[in-house]
Amino acid sequence: KDIPTPETFQQVLKEAYETFKGVNEGKNADYIPFLAKADPNLFGIVIATVDGKVYEIGDSKYPFSMQSVSKVFTFAHVLQTLGSTAVEEKIGVNATGLPFNSLIAIELNETRSVNPLVNAGAITTVSFVPGNTPEDRWNQIIGTMSDFAGRPLSVQEEVYRSESETNLRNRGIVQLLDSYKKLGSDPLESLDLYTRQCSIEVTARDLALMSATLANGGVNPITSKRVLAQNYVPKVLAVMLTNGLYEDSGTWAYQVGLPAKSGVSGGIIAVVPGKFAIATYSPPLDQAGNSFRGQKAIEYITSKLGVNIFSGA
Ligand code: GLN
Repeated sequence: KDIPTPETFQQVLKEAYETFKGVNEGKNADYIPFLAKADPNLFGIVIATVDGKVYEIGDSKYPFSMQSVSKVFTFAHVLQTLGSTAVEEKIGVNATGLPFNSLIAIELNETRSVNPLVNAGAITTVSFVPGNTPEDRWNQIIGTMSDFAGRPLSVQEEVYRSESETNLRNRGIVQLLDSYKKLGSDPLESLDLYTRQCSIEVTARDLALMSATLANGGVNPITSKRVLAQNYVPKVLAVMLTNGLYEDSGTWAYQVGLPAKSGVSGGIIAVVPGKFAIATYSPPLDQAGNSFRGQKAIEYITSKLGVNIFSGA
């Protein structure tokens, strides 16, 4: 159950990078104009361990917006504030089996739930961040993200503007949620905070440390700050496993066997509990909106290192 050696990590990173950097499948997200312009050749992979070591290759320090990867950390914060039963009842934790921006699971209100890692559930989650003003809530969101990363993060204003102007579907989602009285605070304010959180700027290195904090039971491995109580970590990882890659989460669990989360800007995080986390950045996405090269790289590394959580190794 040991953590692989530095040489092993460096070797497997190099192999994964060389193997997949020339793969040109997938397409940048184009429904958010800013993301369509990203250089499709960007590719970075980072591994961060629970003992605070970081291994990186490629464009590991290139800044991009977190997009849906942010959903994990606001979920963690709300879980810790509201408790796990309230999250189950007010937001839901079941897989939707549907695309990230679907309205169908909201409409199946009586028989289905959404969950914090698809848009409907993530906006609901944001609406339950406690606080009297939007500023209050925002400070908690950005504060949580920064604590997970171990450095102060901020918003990419151009992405925020680009997405605020074009988020018609999310406006539909928030109205429908409101009609079912699902939200904990004002609908448009919740959507605005959600859009801002999706625009938070990170690098693959930041994402690796944020997810290594989850691998490390809720303590940032570099700053040693406890960000999430230990007993909530398995809850976050469970929802990542069942919904982190949207409608492809089952295939991902079957092929890779790690809790993970993707975002439409091209980031993916994957957690090996108790050991390390992997973060990738590569903008071209597959049909479900998951980074094509990122998935390949994580699958390769996981299989080479034998760390599928179901393998019992
Ligand atoms: N901000 C994006 C949206 O709401 C996030 C989606 C994603 O990364 N899958 O559409």
